Order: sequence, then structure tokens, then C-alpha cells
Amino acid sequence: MNYILFGPPGAGKGTQAKKIVEKYNVVHLSTGDMFREAKKSDEKISALMAAGKLIPDETVVEMVQKRLKKDDVKNGFLLDGFPRTLNQAKALDEMLKKENIKLDAVFFISIPHEEAIKRIAGRRVCGCGASYHIHFLKSKIEGKCDLCGSDLIQRVDDKEETVMERLTVYDNQTKPLIDYYKTAGLIVNIDGAQDEKNVFEQIAATIKNKK
Ligand SMILES: [Zn+2]
Repeated sequence: MNYILFGPPGAGKGTQAKKIVEKYNVVHLSTGDMFREAKKSDEKISALMAAGKLIPDETVVEMVQKRLKKDDVKNGFLLDGFPRTLNQAKALDEMLKKENIKLDAVFFISIPHEEAIKRIAGRRVCGCGASYHIHFLKSKIEGKCDLCGSDLIQRVDDKEETVMERLTVYDNQTKPLIDYYKTAGLIVNIDGAQDEKNVFEQIAATIKNKK
């Protein structure tokens, strides 16, 4: 079975991807992981990443294409972080057609913007590696680490302005994708604001129906 997982930052994609991979024994194809791997050996990608630039569609597509040719994906895969744009989705369709691979479902986990902001902007970390959340995982003393007593900080990526920017980019790029996969009859809408257990149950029920 071959799936795509997508959703805005803060929707809990990482947690769900882990559960899907464990339960269904499919390969997790995360473009984030692929980039981190490629960064070590590919100078072009490493330079783009160091400059904080977006990796061009063709480079991403090429990387995914190479990965899809490996034997371990024959039992099924879960694509995570790709496709991110309509161009990438079309390129993916072409490569799947060539390899005679069929997509079974596109899980779209959605959450309201304010929920995404609350989840991400509430994260706090400590230099010792501990992490907290001002709503969901409070430290005993506000702003101080339970383990080492140091001041907790908010990562730049987690700041409200940054999250809002990421959400805007996400909206602009992915809205057309949702329509694209809706037309293809593949989209499965999942309410990511519910408990992560319920989110997974909904995904599992869809997979069961498709088998
Ligand atoms: Zn600490």
C-alpha cells in the first residue's frame, strides 16, 4: 500500500507517520530525512540548505525518484513532506506511472491555524535537551527546566511570527494540492485537532477499507 501524508506544521504528522510505519510495515519516505542525508554528500543541496533557501522542485523530484527505485519500497511507502507543490504532485504522478506504482490514499490532516500556533508557539526547550510546552507539558517552575534549572527558551522556528509565515506558505502551496488529490479521488480528510489516538484510528479505518 502506498500513501501520502500531508498537513500543516503542528498537525501531528510526525507522530502519525511513526504509527503508520510501525503498524503497516511501509517505508517512511520523508523528504526532510532525505535532505539531511543528501546534505552530507551533495554539495549543491548542502549549499542551498546552509543558505536557508528552498530546494528547487526538480532537485526534490530527482531525489524522490531515485529513492522510489530502491527495492525496499516494493512493500509500500508513506511519503511525508512530498509532494509540497502542484508541480511536484504532477511529477510524482508521472514517475509512479512509469514505475507502475499506484497510490492508495492521501491523508490530509488539518487543524485550524490558531490550534497550530498554540501547539508550536507553546513549545519551550532547554539546552540540556529537555522539552516542555506552556499548555500541555508545563515545567514545575515557569520558565525553568525541571531537570537542570536552566532558563527555558523558545526556538526561532517556534515563534508565533515564524509559525504564521510557515502557515501562509503552506496554505498557498498546498491548497491546489488538496483539490488535485480530491479530483483524483484519493484524499482522506482527517481532523487533526482530535486526540492523536483518534487521528490514528481514522487513518487505520481508511487503510482497512482500502485493503
Ligand atoms: Zn535542562
